[in-house]
Amino acid sequence: MTKIFLFCIFTLNLFASTLILSDEEKDFIDKNPQVSVALMPDFTPFSYIDKDRIMGFEHDLLELISQKTGLQFKKEFGVWHKNFLSFQTNKVDIISSISHKPERESFTKYTTPYYKIPIMIFVRDDFGKYEGLQSLSGKKIGVLKDVFYEKEIQEITGIEAVIFNTYEDMTEALVFGRIDALVQNLTNINYLIRKNIYSNLVLADELKLPTIPEEDLRFGVNPEKPLLHAIMQKGLESISEQEWESLSDRWMDVSRNRLKKSYDFTKNEREYLDTKVVKYCVDPSFEPFEYLDEKENHHGLTKDYLDLIVVKTQMKVKLVTTTSWTETLEFLKEKKCDMILAIANTYKRQEYLSFTDPYLSFPQVVAMQNDAAFVANMNDLLDKKVAIVKDYALGELLKYQYSTFSPIEVENTQEGLKQVAQGKVEAFVDFLPVVTTGIRKAAIGNLKIAGKIDEIVPLSGAVRSDDMVLYSILQKTMRSIEPTEHTKILDKWMTIKYEHGTDYTLVWRVVVGALALFALFAYWNFKMQQAKNIIQKQNKELETLAMTDKMTGVYNRSKLDEVLQHEIDRSKRYEQNFGCAIIDIDHFKQTNDTFGHLAGDKVLKELSHLIYQSIRKSDYFGRWGGEEFLIIAPEVDKEGLFRLLDKIRKIVSEHQIENIGIKTISIGATIYKSNDTEDTIIKRADDLLYEAKNSGRDKVIVD
Ligand code: GH3
Ligand code: MG
Ligand code: MG
Repeated sequence: MTKIFLFCIFTLNLFASTLILSDEEKDFIDKNPQVSVALMPDFTPFSYIDKDRIMGFEHDLLELISQKTGLQFKKEFGVWHKNFLSFQTNKVDIISSISHKPERESFTKYTTPYYKIPIMIFVRDDFGKYEGLQSLSGKKIGVLKDVFYEKEIQEITGIEAVIFNTYEDMTEALVFGRIDALVQNLTNINYLIRKNIYSNLVLADELKLPTIPEEDLRFGVNPEKPLLHAIMQKGLESISEQEWESLSDRWMDVSRNRLKKSYDFTKNEREYLDTKVVKYCVDPSFEPFEYLDEKENHHGLTKDYLDLIVVKTQMKVKLVTTTSWTETLEFLKEKKCDMILAIANTYKRQEYLSFTDPYLSFPQVVAMQNDAAFVANMNDLLDKKVAIVKDYALGELLKYQYSTFSPIEVENTQEGLKQVAQGKVEAFVDFLPVVTTGIRKAAIGNLKIAGKIDEIVPLSGAVRSDDMVLYSILQKTMRSIEPTEHTKILDKWMTIKYEHGTDYTLVWRVVVGALALFALFAYWNFKMQQAKNIIQKQNKELETLAMTDKMTGVYNRSKLDEVLQHEIDRSKRYEQNFGCAIIDIDHFKQTNDTFGHLAGDKVLKELSHLIYQSIRKSDYFGRWGGEEFLIIAPEVDKEGLFRLLDKIRKIVSEHQIENIGIKTISIGATIYKSNDTEDTIIKRADDLLYEAKNSGRDKVIVD
């Protein structure tokens, strides 16, 4: 994800200046020890609140400014449009994350930007081919209320802008199909996608509207407080390059470097790892994720993750065994164990656990007897007797989403499958790998996977909520696990030997499900690279446009000027020569007069094309103006130049132009002499051209 950094340019002076406050400014701080600043609670990773903790780039930035200037900030939280209103009505002194717009100047005194992020268009993966803004025609596009490009989006003809109050609502609306696309800055949505493992969102393009640049984040200060503005600006300018880097490192996503760096445990964390033994629990029968054998040894996928964590951290661990999932949860609640590696994040559990980012995601499948009908989704199960393992997050989730649904609780997977086989319940729902392993192990003949449901239960690591040091260690370490390491572990446990008659499409789903998460990262990188390439390509196109003559497609005068100057410089420096020739079409006015201007244009195009094809690769050729062209030929002598030009003259004089006939050209050319300037060299060539014209045309004169 390093690529994302390429977009993020600090525009502030990289060399921090020392902070010197004027007497008036010092006086302002004395009289106003605390100023209010409006921040967003959901603008990840700049400013957000996560489980009552205030976090983000802007908070650290304000803290730095506070340290440097002595200003104290009173933070007021609100969604963007509320903050914007409070700021306009002078209810707060400063607003954060504001982008520059001329119409906001009447009520905003801007600092310089502290961050710039590209604005992106996101769609769902079922959107189809995205080919620019026209692809959004007739579609619903999510936009944040009062965001600085809201008006511009609404003005795009043919699209329906749907306005949201929060980024989170908007992103969710796209995930669940209520809108077709959304516009948002890259950093924030990137964070939301990872946080919620939304796997169906795709980056379509960078938003490019003529009046909308990147999203520039600044502090906006009440214009009635110019001293406060000056202090804020000075505060920003006094931040050193290293301080900016460390801010960015801390908050701007998981580049490979950053992952490596996260090994740098703090002193506290190191001490913890050196001195403490971490007690961990597992689900005793959750094969292949984790299970205990008869000797109560831990096996499965989470054992491999644990081994990896131990290698990476030197953590000392001790397994605390339990006999059921329910008991495992009780142990966690009672703090008999400190950590667990595969558990779904639910509200209830947040009371006693802190969760890492989710890292495992698999479909939930339905096991039924062989003769059962296909199950497409949960609706097919609502009127059936369905078993789910007791205290699983899945049960909680389904009861919440389908109020009429009441599953039958079983102790574990084996029990659930047995009840289906015996006809005590009609279906059992669990993670796909768990069900397939269960069926195979129990060698139950009359069971099959009858389908899958759409609900997903991502699994995270978790730590008892009162142990923030361990939490931080685990989160850092989990984040540092490379995609290849993930894949290796998954490969080992997910290549299940399927019995005869297995539906192989499901095998694919296991793989696809497991890899989706890691593919998302890879895909992200790829898309970012693609976005960068597109931008580069467009810049290139612009460049090409700037140097070609519209009508003929060959270089234009400004490019020829540039080449000429460059060749002069080069010849001066290396004492080389180059030739310069002016070509003029003979009696061109006649063509215009006889056949009309359009025919004249056709001659210009055709002859320029013909000449272009006759020059050497190393020569430059372009339109100097009107019906005159220029050839710049590096490293030639007089004779060579004459041969080249006379060949061109001959080719033109033998070329029939449809409906018009033959046009000839005259050429005046010269070789660079020391002390030549652009003017002197052109003047010489022009004089020789005049000579060629006067001596009968269809002629080359080189001197
Ligand atoms: P000579 O052999 O002395 O060069 O005769 P000429 O008729 O070519 O004379 P001159 O160079 O003075 O005239 C150039 C003409 O080219 C004048 C102008 O109307 C015409 N011309 C210049 N640019 C264009 C163009 O882009 N399209 C067309 N159709 N004609 C052009
Ligand atoms: Mg002319
Ligand atoms: Mg002419």
